[in-house]
Amino acid sequence: MDFTLSERALTLKEDIRKFAEAELPPGWKRSTLIDGECRDFEFEIAISRKLAQRGWLVMSWPEEYGGRGASIWEQTVYEMEVGYWGIPGAWMGISGTQWVGPCLMMFGTEEQKATYLPLIASGGRDGVWCTCYSEPNAGSDFANLQTRAEREGDGYVIDGQKVWTSAAHRARWCWLAARTDHDTAKKHHGISIFIVDMKSPGVTVNPILNYYGRHHFNEVFFDSVRVPASSLVGEEDRGWYLLMQALAFERRSTAPTTYGHFRRVLEELAEYAAKTECGGQQLAQNPLIRFKLSSLAVDLEVLKMFAFQLAWRIDQGQIPAYESSRNKVMSDEVMRRVAITGMELLGMYSQVDPDSDWARLGGSIQGAYLGFPGQAIAAGTAEIERSIIARFGLGLPKSY
Ligand SMILES: Cc1cc2nc3c(=O)[nH]c(=O)nc-3n(C[C@H](O)[C@H](O)[C@H](O)COP(=O)(O)OP(=O)(O)OC[C@H]3O[C@@H](n4cnc5c(N)ncnc54)[C@H](O)[C@@H]3O)c2cc1C
Repeated sequence: MDFTLSERALTLKEDIRKFAEAELPPGWKRSTLIDGECRDFEFEIAISRKLAQRGWLVMSWPEEYGGRGASIWEQTVYEMEVGYWGIPGAWMGISGTQWVGPCLMMFGTEEQKATYLPLIASGGRDGVWCTCYSEPNAGSDFANLQTRAEREGDGYVIDGQKVWTSAAHRARWCWLAARTDHDTAKKHHGISIFIVDMKSPGVTVNPILNYYGRHHFNEVFFDSVRVPASSLVGEEDRGWYLLMQALAFERRSTAPTTYGHFRRVLEELAEYAAKTECGGQQLAQNPLIRFKLSSLAVDLEVLKMFAFQLAWRIDQGQIPAYESSRNKVMSDEVMRRVAITGMELLGMYSQVDPDSDWARLGGSIQGAYLGFPGQAIAAGTAEIERSIIARFGLGLPKSY
């Protein structure tokens, strides 16, 4: 494996730095990247469109779909830099750019590709998607989902409830998993994937405030929502296999951004330790603090290597199996460890609201501390990810 970055990738890195300096307001609060609540939607969309105009938003997609055919290496570098600079618009339409688009390229019809991929690639509000998998009784036990899609005439009628749907209040389209066969003996059979227009009659989005009082996710109700047959993605009843691919894409996408974001936070923590005194001693002189910051540097380096190793496998034309889960686990761990060390280092300053004038490092430590438990649940809990690693990485038998 050769992880040396090409001239193109290094130039891209520099271009993104210039972009961030030119487009983001001074003192831009990077904690917003972590709580991901789309606070200033207009600003996010404006940035997202600018990223698209530069050919960055979906750079590894083929040109015919709005990408520029860049390598997965360049995309990984882009994601790391987006994380480092806290560039917001890149994550506004994360469902679309990171898993809906790639899945449509693999499983979609020509009509679906022609309709939806350019919308995602444009970075505009019509390219924002949400992902409707989880239900009140189907999270880790995803195959238990009960939302129904019944064939009727030249389309389907959808009824059911989804929950924890990130960005549903912003999304124009929904990537929906629904049951099309209720009599199958195996629960993971009989599931299909649909594209639903969020403006369809019968779709209701209710906000859910997360445990720190912010509006990030929602409940979504489908009440006799009619969709045309052309909304089905892939084969009817065989959506499970498509979903596994979509989840692998989703889990892959966390490592580069998490690496970039927390690399920056670590640099700032080190600077803070060098500039701050406690009891007449510079924090940076304290052996325990030096040990903790160095340990984080090691964790971050491991995460970077994992991200590059996965990029290398994809570049070789291989389909990653457990590695996406491994990278997701390491991303969650890095976030947790930086958050806890940061809280210890900042002391009482770490307990003020991330938006407070008293917050240090742009509120990024509080953002990470409040965000890490949720991060370790989204896209598959830490237990489920470890279960996948045990089974497919270590060859252990299935446990449930
Ligand atoms: C910030 C955030 C954003 C989210 N965004 C979305 C979204 O956009 N779309 C969407 O569809 N969902 C979303 N979710 C929901 C998320 O996918 C689910 O919460 C997650 O899959 C867990 O499901 P659950 O909440 O039903 O918990 P459960 O599955 O009930 O799990 C409860 C606990 O039991 C453990 N557990 C369950 N089964 C096993 C097992 N077999 N072995 C070991 N331990 C097990 C779990 O690890 C967990 O600790 C989001 C969640 C969060 C926190």
